[in-house]
Amino acid sequence: MGLLLLAWLILSAVVSTYFERKGLGRSKGLWLSLLLSPVVGFLIGLVSTPDERGLTKAKFAAGEIKCPHCAEFIKIEANVCRYCRGDVSTLSPQLPAPRNESEAV
Ligand SMILES: [Zn+2]
Repeated sequence: MGLLLLAWLILSAVVSTYFERKGLGRSKGLWLSLLLSPVVGFLIGLVSTPDERGLTKAKFAAGEIKCPHCAEFIKIEANVCRYCRGDVSTLSPQLPAPRNESEAV
């Protein structure tokens, strides 16, 4: 029983990471996995379309912004994009506008 619980928790953590990489929100993936099951949580993440804004927010938190020239994620401190060599030195790091009031905390 203890082993099943441990596997449940570990797989839930894996699913929450998968949700975060898809921009769907780490906590959403974690709760779906803990309450329903890691398998159900993973399947929900699999059929969900990636959330572009959520992904941008997660990347921003990790210290990356989207290049305005090629739309690839690059470091906030970068002056030149490593993908397209475009000048990004004048970019001010900022998050995209919140979709609704509940997210604007
Ligand atoms: Zn670029």
